[in-house]
Amino acid sequence: MNRHPHDPQCIFCKIVGHEAPASVILETEDVMVFLDAHPVNKGHVLLVPKAHHADLADLPEAVAGHAGSLLPGLCRAVRKATGADGFNVVVNSGRAAGQTVDHGHWHVIPRFHDDAVKWPWPRTEYLDDDLGQLRFSIARELNLNLVED
Ligand code: AMP
Ligand code: ZN
Repeated sequence: MNRHPHDPQCIFCKIVGHEAPASVILETEDVMVFLDAHPVNKGHVLLVPKAHHADLADLPEAVAGHAGSLLPGLCRAVRKATGADGFNVVVNSGRAAGQTVDHGHWHVIPRFHDDAVKWPWPRTEYLDDDLGQLRFSIARELNLNLVED
């Protein structure tokens, strides 16, 4: 019996359950790390919680903490193994953000000075009081009471 929330249709749940193939690098009780089958650059890995949560923002904090604790070492390993000049850690959540597999995960993507990846993203500017209002709105969602500075 799988103790993790599981979607039998989900390709990452199938990989986690060893029902679909993957180039697995690391497996713990709560996460799996495997090579992305269609890498942005070679050595692109996915850090995948075993529990099926479409939205990474729904991940239990203990699992997120465990996954987060593995990230620095994983980033160092990817960078060293690929000879990369840098790396991106990316989460795509929701179609608007480009998520294609509805099982939340982190990408660790090795980057090279001369690679073909388009970066940086376009930026916008804050107008009027947008910045102050958003600071308060986000803090309120976190149940924090900010005082005006
Ligand atoms: P995202 O677009 O953020 O949801 O990322 C999904 C990632 O999963 C993409 O980078 C895909 O290349 C990768 N992917 C999809 N199916 C597989 C698979 N069977 N094995 C390994 N990687 C996969
Ligand atoms: Zn899944």
